[in-house]
Amino acid sequence: MAAASLYKTQLLKIYNSISGQKETFTPITEGNIGMYVCGPTVYSNVHLGNCRTFISFDMVFRYLKHLGYKVRYVRNITDAGHLENDADEGEDKVAKKARLEQLEPMEIVQRYTLDFHNVMSKFNAIPPSIEPTATGHIVEQVEIIKTIIENGFAYISNGSVYFDVQKFNKTHEYGKLSGRNLEDMIANTRELTAQSDKKNPQDFALWKKAEPQHIMRWPSPWSDGFPGWHLECTVMSTKYLGERFDIHGGGMDLKFPHHECEIAQGEAACGQTPVNYWMHANMLTLNGKKMSKSTGNTISPEELFTGNNTVLGKPFDPTIVRFFMMQAHYRSVLDFSNDALEASEKGFYKLMDALQTLSTIVADQKTEGFDVEKWRSECYDAMNDDFNTPIVIAKLFDAVKFINTLKEQKASISKNDLEQLRVTINEFVFDVLGLVNSNEVASDTIDKLSGTVELLIKLRAEARANKDFATSDKIRDELLEIGIQLKDSREGTTFSLN
Ligand code: AMP
Ligand code: ZN
Repeated sequence: MAAASLYKTQLLKIYNSISGQKETFTPITEGNIGMYVCGPTVYSNVHLGNCRTFISFDMVFRYLKHLGYKVRYVRNITDAGHLENDADEGEDKVAKKARLEQLEPMEIVQRYTLDFHNVMSKFNAIPPSIEPTATGHIVEQVEIIKTIIENGFAYISNGSVYFDVQKFNKTHEYGKLSGRNLEDMIANTRELTAQSDKKNPQDFALWKKAEPQHIMRWPSPWSDGFPGWHLECTVMSTKYLGERFDIHGGGMDLKFPHHECEIAQGEAACGQTPVNYWMHANMLTLNGKKMSKSTGNTISPEELFTGNNTVLGKPFDPTIVRFFMMQAHYRSVLDFSNDALEASEKGFYKLMDALQTLSTIVADQKTEGFDVEKWRSECYDAMNDDFNTPIVIAKLFDAVKFINTLKEQKASISKNDLEQLRVTINEFVFDVLGLVNSNEVASDTIDKLSGTVELLIKLRAEARANKDFATSDKIRDELLEIGIQLKDSREGTTFSLN
């Protein structure tokens, strides 16, 4: 990782979804960042779309750390309160799965949490600093509901508690994140059904009274029930990051209602807006349609790693998929296809080959053909421009081109520049983009090969010193025959693979 406090010299800009602009990033406490990202609802295996969002924020986490910030990254596990269709009515997603599989809800939670962790580690995502669960924070959720009621922004109805959106909107602005206007929302929603406990259709549940068959339930002052889906994130972000923190992230589809409701809850409970920078990652699509569990339009990580899906021509290494994702900006829609992955795979190996070549390059007196310092600062400029990974990757390929001209001895590089190039390229490829050299086995073999060739080079030099040109030529020619070319220069002998 880079030197501490690199952030002092880098001007990071983040696109803030709430202002619709790229803003200069200034943390609340110098050198420290609090970041909250909505985690998965653990009722099924994560699909590749979910993974894209988490990988996008892993890249953000990595870059912030690279800049020298101390980041507290909180990503929750939703294990209760998330109802079918993301609504206030219907069965709990976890409980429904438990019913269908005749398991305890917590068995479902455990199974899919483990799957999620396993998949994220395959994608080389760094675990968050804290990973709290909704069920682990029922007490705090009850407490915050009491505060919201006391502050006059919620009402009790039939054992449930609802957030009073119209009342809130009199003094606050409901809809400011998603760009919606409450009047329009009212005009566009149907009347409430007679049995609804809500005053208005826009109101959302903070606490729901459990029906007799609802098994995931906890006691509260209002009823035996369970918290509303939006509340857990307010409670856990407040608890671990404070009433106001730096960055809140999630997929674009969470902007409304989920994040809008989080803002309302935070403002209603704490009297200040909870988040300084809202970040939303865009969707992964398949055949142009959002990858989504509910429509079945998904590819699972497992299918990808095994090639076991008709849209895939072969298996793909997790790092290739990560590279494919990094080739798009996190705020752009990315369409998944076998062809696109194959193209990424080619690009990735080209990059890895160049890294390997770079390790064999010998420094010269001066650099010709490339401005390493300028290139390095352009890599940072790209990341500082709202984490523009596709531009960073384009910059990396500029370096690849240069490395290949060095290999052909059509350019040269000084000792300092060579060191700078090596450090920077490694930091961006591995630390920031989070790629893994999946050629590790191959590169181990290459290390051994290099050692062997170095030995032959030494023997050849000894033969020459003894004027035994027959042996020295034999070594050179026979190596060439098997595709290893020796190159003599003033600095000594190097080799390349043809
Ligand atoms: P869920 O488990 O449904 O709460 O979703 C977990 C995360 O995945 C959320 O941040 C969603 O916004 C995100 N997500 C869901 N579908 C996609 C998709 N097709 N592409 C990118 N992110 C997605
Ligand atoms: Zn959330």
